[in-house]
Amino acid sequence: MQLKVVSSGSIGNAYIVYNDNEALLIECGVKFKDIKQALKFDLTKVVGCIVSHSHKDHCIGAKDLVNAGIDLYSLPETSETFGFKSHRLKAIDASKSFNVGSFRVKAFPLNHDVPCVGFMIEHTETGRFCFITDTYFCEYKIPGMHNVIIEANYCQSILDQKVAAGATPDFLRNRVLRSHMSLATCKGFLQANDLKSVNNIVLIHLSDSNSHAERFKNEVTELTAKNVHIASKGLDINFNKTPF
Ligand SMILES: [Zn+2]
Ligand SMILES: [Zn+2]
Repeated sequence: MQLKVVSSGSIGNAYIVYNDNEALLIECGVKFKDIKQALKFDLTKVVGCIVSHSHKDHCIGAKDLVNAGIDLYSLPETSETFGFKSHRLKAIDASKSFNVGSFRVKAFPLNHDVPCVGFMIEHTETGRFCFITDTYFCEYKIPGMHNVIIEANYCQSILDQKVAAGATPDFLRNRVLRSHMSLATCKGFLQANDLKSVNNIVLIHLSDSNSHAERFKNEVTELTAKNVHIASKGLDINFNKTPF
């Protein structure tokens, strides 16, 4: 399996976990044509799309995706905001696991300013991995992970400097603190979890103005001694349970 980043951050989020036969879409917060392009226009292997929440940077492509015949799994509160109905909109019940192709998916609630879920996903090739974004905190521990996809949105000191310099208004600072994950909180999650079997840690949804990609990567590498990646457009990495 490979992980491909179509886009990450408030500009739009879309990620594809794929091999020759199957592709799982995570988020569709970009124009559908960008997702099609990332799939080299082969939609036949797409098994479905899972969506964390209703913000446009995570689901703006929902209607086109469903019109293309792809099943979309989200909380009912999320699909209600799409403004259309379809039998392809599947409701996630956060207490139950479900199959999307040969991926086994379990959603769990996160802490954002609208209802939002994280995902624990299992597949024979990738092993177990998590997808956690748009949350100021994640209280769950996920045992036996082989790969990690997690938000590292901002760094408190950069944010404070921006506010002090008048570049970021107070209300925006307060919103960020209550809805997105800081580098320190991200590191806390990684420290709280057993990373023994983890191959890749992919940092996603970095803020344009309040993050520093190279520093984030270095700090998480230092902490975990894992392969740490910053989710930039076009990143395409081996995402297997075993790295070979
Ligand atoms: Zn977002
Ligand atoms: Zn959001």
